[in-house]
Amino acid sequence: MEWTRSETLALAAPGCNICLGLGLRMGHGDSTNPCNCVLRAIFRQCFEHFRDCISQEKFVSKVTLDPLPGKDRRGAWGRKDEEFAADFCLVSKRTLTEFEYRIFRCHFLLGADWKLCCQKLQLERGTFFHAVYRLEQKLGRVFRELEPYGLFPITDYFHGPIRSVTSSLPAVVPIQPHNPPQFCTRRIA
Ligand SMILES: [Zn+2]
Repeated sequence: MEWTRSETLALAAPGCNICLGLGLRMGHGDSTNPCNCVLRAIFRQCFEHFRDCISQEKFVSKVTLDPLPGKDRRGAWGRKDEEFAADFCLVSKRTLTEFEYRIFRCHFLLGADWKLCCQKLQLERGTFFHAVYRLEQKLGRVFRELEPYGLFPITDYFHGPIRSVTSSLPAVVPIQPHNPPQFCTRRIA
């Protein structure tokens, strides 16, 4: 996907020294990359929504009928808030290293502050905050670039257009060309 200024401008930190509040950094050639302040903002918005999803009372949860892509127009019933919370956890676990995920789980999922995390995980304060910044940037990018349904923009996750889904498994190529079955014509004595 291509990052544009119209998207990053609203997310960038106004006082950022790197992007000067524009949200884009120049990459190799003419390519542009999102600034780390934008990626962290994306992560924080998704995290806030995750907290909203898991803290609401169970009776508030809504069931929605979502159309399926393709010819099948029957749709599927789902609970979007629970799906978002599950995607937030599963995508994070899949993306982060084991070390980063331990910090993510302790700080973001279990709610421990930096002092408790450092004590529990035997980390220096600087190491902890560097790792938190790094994992926020990593997850912010993945939440935005995930195909076909990114977690961000959050409104698109809940009310966005239906996209076709393809299998992530590689196509199976037969080792030998397919031959029609040979029928035995010899009569058994
Ligand atoms: Zn920036």
